[in-house]
Amino acid sequence: MQLYENQQIKLYNSLTGKKEIFKPINKGHIGMYVCGPTVYSNVHLGNVRTFMSFDMIFRYLKHLGYKVRYVRNITDAGHLENDADAGEDKITKKARLEQIEPMEVVQRYTVDFHNILNTFNFLPPSIEPTATGHIIEQIELIKTIIDNGYAYEVNGSVYFDVHKFNETNEYGKLSKRKLEDLIHNTRTLDGQSDKKNPQDFALWKKAEPQHIMRWPSPWSDGFPGWHLECTAMSTKYLGEHFDIHGGGMDLKFPHHECEIAQNEAAVGKSPVNYWMHANMLELNGQRMSKTTGNTVNPDELLSGNNKFFSKAYAPSVIRFFIAQSSYRSVLDLTDDGLLASEKGFYRLMDAVNLLNQLKASEKSTLDINTLKQKCYDAMNDDFNSPILIAHLFEAVKYINQINEGSETLTAEDLAILKEIINTFTFDVLGLENVTKNDSGTDKLSGAVDVLIKLRQEARANKDFALSDKIRDELLEVGIQLKDGKDGTTFSVN
Ligand code: AMP
Ligand code: ZN
Repeated sequence: MQLYENQQIKLYNSLTGKKEIFKPINKGHIGMYVCGPTVYSNVHLGNVRTFMSFDMIFRYLKHLGYKVRYVRNITDAGHLENDADAGEDKITKKARLEQIEPMEVVQRYTVDFHNILNTFNFLPPSIEPTATGHIIEQIELIKTIIDNGYAYEVNGSVYFDVHKFNETNEYGKLSKRKLEDLIHNTRTLDGQSDKKNPQDFALWKKAEPQHIMRWPSPWSDGFPGWHLECTAMSTKYLGEHFDIHGGGMDLKFPHHECEIAQNEAAVGKSPVNYWMHANMLELNGQRMSKTTGNTVNPDELLSGNNKFFSKAYAPSVIRFFIAQSSYRSVLDLTDDGLLASEKGFYRLMDAVNLLNQLKASEKSTLDINTLKQKCYDAMNDDFNSPILIAHLFEAVKYINQINEGSETLTAEDLAILKEIINTFTFDVLGLENVTKNDSGTDKLSGAVDVLIKLRQEARANKDFALSDKIRDELLEVGIQLKDGKDGTTFSVN
């Protein structure tokens, strides 16, 4: 018997706005699709938060014994700068600015994305398809949508006819928008667009002569629209109807709304039973966003080399900080918050490391089975990781009490306590057992700070030969010092 038979999950479905009992389409199996990154720049910590929330959900579903097929795509084509299908393709633009091939941009940032996820101890998804690897599927999907009467071709581009679709279906049902309001709030077109209506969105765009990323199609040499790739790839790997679709809150409209419309237009049914949206990470009270530049990248936070935070933080501390909030709450990344999480994380790890030294007794004075079920209840309640962590701290209290001799556990209960810690701390939350002194990044940052201070002293003593030697030799081992008006910082090359 699998654990899921006894543990009933309730999850918040963005489509209905309610917490619902989770029931997979096929018993014991779950299909889950999460929109992946657009690989045109380094991921920031906001992106990491969203993927981390789904990593935790994936881990818990697997722990319950479900066979989960988790698909997370890589967007390597078709994502224009502007939601109204205007502007340049983000990857092409980066390639033009850096004078490299678009596929070099894709390669560089896909590798960066994977490195970051490894650093944070993510589990790999079951399938990680790319948009460029599924052009044929996307063209076939467009043909079906045209055949069904929900898309039209103009000058080599194909657009989804939102008004026509809305006559028989409900466009806006996920994001709770009404087409009439969208019409009212959209500026009229300037005559440049081929669209019948501004709410229509591109399924296929004809490539301008200078556009490098292009594929032949029945309509033109061009490229697919961004929303289309997710429908094509989710259908290919999870079927026309699957269990869970996730992404960041900002993708609800237009991206996910358009995915629903495409699926309904192509196969006549809504693709997904449960839509899940992770809330935004903020930095200094403002959404972290590539567009505004209000971001901190993981390596900046891990090395301590940034202008926002007082020190370097270990990957598990950052993971712990993120798990201390519900995935559905806005979370502000602050130094105070990280410092508090760091203290809590090492308190938890100290207790974990004490666990193996505890001695069993004749009888138990603590109710360990109730604690275990409380941990499951927290995760069953829409993956409520902050409540789970509160229960793990109850376990920390127990461990310390047993160690001091004020409470006791039998060998059997002690084994259950170890199981609780291993399951929830490591398997589900994905934390790694590091103690404060193991943290390589902390040590590196501390050591470079010592050298920066020595160099300042050398300069103050006018010993420029020594100060230059420190700078040059650090550079030789890949650490670059940067002198600024607020002092010296460093980067690891
Ligand atoms: P992108 O590469 O821009 O498509 O974003 C990748 C994922 O990160 C999407 O699911 C976004 O919703 C999510 N995301 C972007 N900004 C933030 C943020 N500040 N906090 C949390 N998630 C975010
Ligand atoms: Zn998507």
